[in-house]
Amino acid sequence: MINNTDISDRIVAIFQKMLSNETKNVLLHEPAFKGNEWTYIKECLDTGWVSSVGAYVDRFEKDLAQFTGSPYAVAVVNGTAALHISLLIAGVQPNDEVMIPSLTFVATANAVTYCGATPHLIDVTHDTLGVDAIKLGDYLKEIAIIQQNGHYYNKYTGRRLSAVVPMHTFGHPVDLEGLLEVCNRYHLALVEDAAESLGSYYKGKHTGTYGHIAALSFNGNKIITTGGGGAILTANEEWAKRAKHLTTTAKIPHRWLFIHDETAYNYRLPNLNAALGCAQLEQLPLFLEQKRKLANLYAQEFKQIPELTFVKEPTDTSSNYWLNTLKLNTPDSSIRDEILKKTNDHGFMTRPTWTPMHKLEIYKSSPQMDLSVTEEIASSVINIPSSPALLNSATKEE
Ligand SMILES: *Cc1c(COP(=O)(O)O)cnc(C)c1O
Repeated sequence: MINNTDISDRIVAIFQKMLSNETKNVLLHEPAFKGNEWTYIKECLDTGWVSSVGAYVDRFEKDLAQFTGSPYAVAVVNGTAALHISLLIAGVQPNDEVMIPSLTFVATANAVTYCGATPHLIDVTHDTLGVDAIKLGDYLKEIAIIQQNGHYYNKYTGRRLSAVVPMHTFGHPVDLEGLLEVCNRYHLALVEDAAESLGSYYKGKHTGTYGHIAALSFNGNKIITTGGGGAILTANEEWAKRAKHLTTTAKIPHRWLFIHDETAYNYRLPNLNAALGCAQLEQLPLFLEQKRKLANLYAQEFKQIPELTFVKEPTDTSSNYWLNTLKLNTPDSSIRDEILKKTNDHGFMTRPTWTPMHKLEIYKSSPQMDLSVTEEIASSVINIPSSPALLNSATKEE
């Protein structure tokens, strides 16, 4: 028989063998600033270019476009703002419904709400932890009807269905090909929440470049950070121009006149943050390599515990392994909680996944499909220490 304490003790033993926590707690995801961060930020201060105009913003956008292979990248203040603008540009209008996974960070749902639209919660798969394209396709067959204007509507709520927002959970790419097929069939925009997946690829293409438009995040806990920041990726030149316009108060460029041609947003990334981003992006290939090494070590070590699985990148993808993840083979939130307690007590930071959107008071009455896989995953998944620099201690045994 399996005993709860037994599993958590074995997990703690693996952490103690792999990771040194003699001096401090091992955090879930710590940023590393070992590159040109000081130099670039000092240059901003020395030249006075600290705010939303400056050479680093332009460079950061160019570097991001180059790294991801996206024709255009527009830098913004955070990932939530990037999602908000992406949805607006993709044509989401007040009173629409937007399909999002229930298993996500609340920003995905909030961005839909900012547009005056309603999130419609959909289920995920065990192998990607992201949106289940097949289940979504079957569900739409049942609920969607086309109207004369060429748009599909939810026949139960009467609202227009305008977009799907998959999220690449913990860096693992979802089935984008399957989703794009569903989106084409139902005339929906594919807006990728790629906040967690910078450096992750689906069939050789960077996540966020497969759909119509995408959002990245550079919050402090993400694979690279600008302190706070985000970006919009798109291959559509008109959309990229519109993204820049909407995020810079819709000001018409002029040497001195202040003409704004619509009510828009002050979402532009400051130069100081972009400077940090340029330095961080230079180190992204190193971070990706370190994180992959750490994930491989974890995968090897956790084979010793047959009651759980180390979550690996889905087939045909390359994950950035942003947050390493353990999954109980039999969902059980009491065993999960025991593991969380033991590991945190021993100085190894672990966390459960987000409370699914359909369990939050603010979104529980949103339209939703069967969410049984989401519930299983929510009670069986644990994120474990994943900082790129952990490698130094993780390889101490070798
Ligand atoms: C981090 C994150 C965002 C954006 O967060 P910001 O803090 O606004 O940059 C959006 N969606 C998901 C899934 C995220 O993890």
